[in-house]
Amino acid sequence: MHFRSFGRLDYAPSALGFGAMRLPVVDGAHDRIDREAARELLVRAVEGGVNYVDTAYNYHGGTSEEWLGWALQGGLRERVKIATKLPSWKVERTDDFDRFLDEQLERLGTGIDFYLLHSLDEDTWRDNVLAHDVLGAAERALADGRIGHFGFSFHDRYEAFELILGGSDLWEFCQIQYNFMDEEHQAGRRGLELAAGRGLAVVVMEPLRGGQLARPTAAAEEAWVAGLAELRSAGHRPPDSPVEWALRWLWDQPEVALLLSGMSTLEQVEQNVRFAGRAEVGCMAPEEQQVIARVRDAYRKSTPIPCTGCKYCLPCPNKVAIPDILELYNDAVAYADVGGARTRYTWLDEETRAQACTACGECEDRCPQGIAIAGWLEKAQSFLAVGDDGSG
Ligand code: SF4
Ligand code: SF4
Repeated sequence: MHFRSFGRLDYAPSALGFGAMRLPVVDGAHDRIDREAARELLVRAVEGGVNYVDTAYNYHGGTSEEWLGWALQGGLRERVKIATKLPSWKVERTDDFDRFLDEQLERLGTGIDFYLLHSLDEDTWRDNVLAHDVLGAAERALADGRIGHFGFSFHDRYEAFELILGGSDLWEFCQIQYNFMDEEHQAGRRGLELAAGRGLAVVVMEPLRGGQLARPTAAAEEAWVAGLAELRSAGHRPPDSPVEWALRWLWDQPEVALLLSGMSTLEQVEQNVRFAGRAEVGCMAPEEQQVIARVRDAYRKSTPIPCTGCKYCLPCPNKVAIPDILELYNDAVAYADVGGARTRYTWLDEETRAQACTACGECEDRCPQGIAIAGWLEKAQSFLAVGDDGSG
């Protein structure tokens, strides 16, 4: 295991963190963690050097924190730092912060080293965090020792990241979705560099984009295979798999403090620990970077809508979340993952879904790719909300 730096803190996190959100469960029930099997994964991860464990109030239907507290008993607790998260979107009163935090401390039965405001976006920041003085409450929790360090996790566009990052001096770390396909998406590389430049540790989530990068599309697979052959003939030892490649791309970057993996099997733990032991800052040869760039292009070409996510089409007068919807449609087709895309579609605010489009055409005038946006939105609505075969 390699150990890295964590912003301004005197703490060397393991390159790999253990995410307690995709643990083995009983009878397929998401809120029934298979406690012993899950503990086995955690023990193996810690034996492999993992020293950062991440959970949240709502993971596994609210059972992950209690499981973690139990699983860490008997000697493991001293070997790891615990990160957990406030369900920011549920904060509706000023005393909600303390109510949730106290409940979380009780569930865990141990202290919280790192506390995050979970899944901030511009709306949650304004309507929940600022409106109910969450920052004041966090300052008091830091002062009285109920939490060790304070940060946030984030899902929104870059501009919102900048706003939130600049909105408090309390931040010591943040957690962003980042991988080689999301370099210019959400906080992206710009956000990573901005936060690291301000001395924050940046924890990376979704390193495999929800598992998509472990399942290359046909075109991406072709690019990987060609890349492997090139690297071998150039005398490099290529990575074992697309998974290792995706993780190495992250570990190569000095601004990444650690990456979180929600591992579900012992095999995944063993594999990721092995990968983490042979990747560090600057580990990627330029030839490998070129292969990654070609694979990225191949992934993009696998998608039906040539949307780059530039957001020039926004704002829509009817508040339609155009790039998000086009991306979901693209993902559903490219990965044949209709179920996953439909679930993520429900995460969008209802008034921002495709049915709000009146086909006014304003966005199409602004789209540099010349995309017939209204037509694709109509298709996306029937595919993602109602469901047909999406073809045509
Ligand atoms: S065509 Fe639809 S999505 Fe585009 S600006 Fe008009 S209402 Fe919004
Ligand atoms: S302007 Fe066009 S390419 Fe850019 S995000 Fe909107 S639809 Fe996609």
